[in-house]
Amino acid sequence: MKVRPEYDGTEIVEVDIPKPGPTEVLIRNKCVSICGTDVHIFDWDPWAQGRIKTPLIYGHEFAGEIVEVGSAVTSVKVGDQVSGECHIVDNRCEMCQSGRAHICDNVEIFGVDRTGIFAEYCCIPAFNVWVNDPTLPPEFCSVQDPLGNAVHTVFSTNVSGQSVAILGAGPIGLMATAVCKVCGASEIYVVEGNNKYRAKLARKVGAYKTFLASEQDVEKEILERTNGAGVDVVLEMSGNAHAFNTGLRILKKGGHFAILGVYKEPIPIDITDMVVFKGITMVGITGRHMFKTWQITKNLLNIPSLCEDLSTIITHNMPFEDFKKGMEIMRSGQSGKVVLSLE
Ligand SMILES: [Zn+2]
Ligand SMILES: [Zn+2]
Repeated sequence: MKVRPEYDGTEIVEVDIPKPGPTEVLIRNKCVSICGTDVHIFDWDPWAQGRIKTPLIYGHEFAGEIVEVGSAVTSVKVGDQVSGECHIVDNRCEMCQSGRAHICDNVEIFGVDRTGIFAEYCCIPAFNVWVNDPTLPPEFCSVQDPLGNAVHTVFSTNVSGQSVAILGAGPIGLMATAVCKVCGASEIYVVEGNNKYRAKLARKVGAYKTFLASEQDVEKEILERTNGAGVDVVLEMSGNAHAFNTGLRILKKGGHFAILGVYKEPIPIDITDMVVFKGITMVGITGRHMFKTWQITKNLLNIPSLCEDLSTIITHNMPFEDFKKGMEIMRSGQSGKVVLSLE
């Protein structure tokens, strides 16, 4: 629980087991994973200061078992192995009613705007529950939220037989690399700022070539390798303005530019030459389609090679009590995904 509005103001505290409301379920967690968002909350950075109200049990990525259901719940049952979509939506607004609940006008995120799941027990709406294949390891199930972000981004176009550049090799960039590989991308280039550890992980999970922007002229290298034309698809996952503009310059005319990264402030880009005259398509990606992305993700988790890559990307699995160490490792950049186990 974030008990104090300050850096490191997170503590393990004893609370009552929550009681599910009529449309909620109670879940006993087996595994939770640490998201970049959680590190922001732990660090109490300006974003967290503006958004989070303490005290708050945070965390939103989990895998567990349903142990109790509310009186009106019929869609899931006690004993189901589950994870969940962290966007709580109203199912009433124009976006929800037109099949775009991931951009609901009244979205609330558990672990950010309301009680999250870094706990032995948590309550979430039954609508948000995703039933897992009980044979899948809980650590894989717990990362379906970021894996879903990667799937949502990659599936915003057809990467099969296409060359792809992925900017940023954080956990979601690594997952996108693995997803592009199983989707049959012809060449996958991954660009990192200066993190050699993550560049190496990217090569392990399918990057054909990785580049470090701090040491190499990424634009020149990728244009040379693509006969000056650039890549068919760019996935911007770094949140870095410089990388964004490099991405525009290495994208082929008529290409697809998907943006999952978020930026500290508005960034200048050359719309005229890089977007209009190149005739590219730009798309912003947030959350996961509810629940089409979850269905695709579930199907992809049936592919053994993707699961193998996931176990490479999950570099740390440690006891829940060691969460401070987990945050530290995430912040160091010397990790892929960090999972905390409760059993
Ligand atoms: Zn997350
Ligand atoms: Zn809505």
